[in-house]
Amino acid sequence: MNTVALSAEHLFKTYGEGDTAVHALNDVSFSMNVGEIVALLGPSGAGKSTLLTTLGLIQPPSLGTISIAGTRVFDNGYQVNIRDFRRNNIGFVFQKANLLPFLTAEENIRIAMEVNDASSRESKQYAAELLEHFELSARRAFLPKQLSGGQQQRVAIARALANKPSLLLADEPTAALDSHMGRKVMELLKNVAHTHHTAVLVVTHDHRAIDVFDRIWMMEDGKLSEKNRQD
Ligand code: ADP
Repeated sequence: MNTVALSAEHLFKTYGEGDTAVHALNDVSFSMNVGEIVALLGPSGAGKSTLLTTLGLIQPPSLGTISIAGTRVFDNGYQVNIRDFRRNNIGFVFQKANLLPFLTAEENIRIAMEVNDASSRESKQYAAELLEHFELSARRAFLPKQLSGGQQQRVAIARALANKPSLLLADEPTAALDSHMGRKVMELLKNVAHTHHTAVLVVTHDHRAIDVFDRIWMMEDGKLSEKNRQD
């Protein structure tokens, strides 16, 4: 079995050209295993969002290769139908839950499966499993506005997992939560990585929950390095 969920080799991303060129990714290489949760730290402007959107196949790198779940998706040009690939293999979680306000918690999860051709029976069953796993069964028929921020974020994570992605990318998922709920959400993401066999990469500034992560990466000036916990 291939245990590497995600790998990148010599990724470069340059915005602009000539004197005004910004090297947002400057020779970034790494790999992440299935079931691993990694924190991505670094100051503003370091290149974290660029890395996340590049790995999420939202924008192409200028150069380099990206492999996800054993498929070479980018090798100086996209190799697969990226919209289908993204929908089937990559989940996203953002700072805000961005749930559809007129749908219940359950419907928000099911719609993600149904746009991907799941039958109504399949989506109902898997949404129920996710809701139970995230301790939201009692809230399944609630609208987003009837849920707390932490509950909304849990629904958003469940929705991101609806299509069983091999890679989950999270951009400051706890920034809008208090520290107790922030920690719970980070622990949930770790649990997701371990039990759903998903690689989870989290951009965060939240140092309070840093012990949750298997590895910590630091980005500075477009360069990625691994951080020792003792640092
Ligand atoms: P971070 O997420 O760590 O704050 P970003 O990836 O957003 O960093 O930005 C990295 C660098 O690339 C910054 O210098 C930023 O100004 C620049 N940058 C980001 N997006 C663009 C863009 N669309 N056009 C030009 N420059 C950009």
